[in-house]
Amino acid sequence: MGSRSGATQVIPDLGHNARMAERVIPLVDQRLAAIQPVFSTAPIALGSFWADARGRPLHDLRISVTDRCNFRCSYCMPKEVFNSDYTYLPQSDLLTFEEITRLARVFVDLGVKKIRLTGGEPLLRKNLEILVSQLAALRTPDGEPLDLTLTTNGSLLQRKAQALKDAGLRRVTISLDGLDDAVFKRMNDVEFPVTDVLQGIEAARAVGLGLDAWGQYSNLKINMVVKRGTNEDQIVPMARHFRGSGMTLRFIEYMDVGNTNGWRMDEVLPSSLVLDLLRTQFDLVPLTAQQPGETAQRWGWAGSDGQHDPRLGEIGLISSVTQAFCGDCNRARLSTEGKLYLCLFAHQGYDLRRLLREGADDDQLRRAIAGTWSQRNDRYSELRGQGMAPVEKPRVEMSYIGG
Ligand code: SAM
Ligand code: SF4
Ligand code: SF4
Repeated sequence: MGSRSGATQVIPDLGHNARMAERVIPLVDQRLAAIQPVFSTAPIALGSFWADARGRPLHDLRISVTDRCNFRCSYCMPKEVFNSDYTYLPQSDLLTFEEITRLARVFVDLGVKKIRLTGGEPLLRKNLEILVSQLAALRTPDGEPLDLTLTTNGSLLQRKAQALKDAGLRRVTISLDGLDDAVFKRMNDVEFPVTDVLQGIEAARAVGLGLDAWGQYSNLKINMVVKRGTNEDQIVPMARHFRGSGMTLRFIEYMDVGNTNGWRMDEVLPSSLVLDLLRTQFDLVPLTAQQPGETAQRWGWAGSDGQHDPRLGEIGLISSVTQAFCGDCNRARLSTEGKLYLCLFAHQGYDLRRLLREGADDDQLRRAIAGTWSQRNDRYSELRGQGMAPVEKPRVEMSYIGG
């Protein structure tokens, strides 16, 4: 039962997990919903500031390099949908490394300074370090290197950390939803043990991924999605574990991305409550944002003098549900097969691959990306917060456009 037909996917064999099954919503294949980019007619000066319809600059690009994953996190790729009947994109649909690099160069021409590789699980893409080396060689119109990073579930990091570092990766974000094996295995749903992810984190640290200008590891980030009733008892153990590591531990509110995770508001633990809980146990001091458009509110572990001690590391709170940050969202997303998405909650993408494969030159690509970005008006989370989220159109899955 191919999900690329555009028909609603029928889900077989739901008996083994009745509670989840009741809540999983059948998949409608949003990957098929592609439209042509909007071409800018204005002349394009390289490195100029490209603002969308709400004045937000194009600054970050997230590139999904695969729609596959070796985990089945229930909040992202529930097993009941992403099973052996699910049809992933065929290899020929995927952008090649050369195509990704060419598009990335055009985005950089238009002001992008930060690139995050994601997925699915990006380390499943064969020879990813070759793509990393190609992207690491790009320079902004001012001659600066990019802020190049990657989000991974950490399962393959022990094997790949050195090659990624050698290829020019600067930092990495690793997802880990708890320290208790039973809780973590329930969340990844493939019996993957905590120890192996911790070894991946240690490998990243050992090769210097995420080392900051002060010799700490604040750019080695750990993402924990907090789901009320599932892993909130892991908040304090995770904090205790990473306090002292110099790394940044980020708590992410469980989001209503895609259509298949059976999201419910009562399973969202607001970041304000996470902070309250942490402050009952630890001294924390607020830190200022490092750059505009930053998704996390930053807090530092206080040392004995009551000031932030960077050697201890820091905390990030990502309140995507309770405190929307659409106002300065500067992120574009490039899907695995070359569609440009303007929002994590979008229901369609703009087909850049077709342009590439039809022989568009760089100027045409620049005009397509700049023109499409110029008319961007998305602000889903803000609207959701006001009870006005558009519900009539299904959204693309996060594993397909990248987190
Ligand atoms: N597979 C990689 C990983 O898990 O790190 C990269 C892709 S994953 C889609 C990117 C990030 O999105 C992860 O940190 C993951 O925990 C987060 N994520 C996925 N589904 C989410 C949801 N429903 N709510 C909040 N965060 C989510
Ligand atoms: Fe895979 Fe990452 Fe999604 Fe978990 S969050 S299923 S690791 S893509
Ligand atoms: Fe950006 Fe869309 Fe998220 Fe708002 S909802 S912060 S516009 S990705």
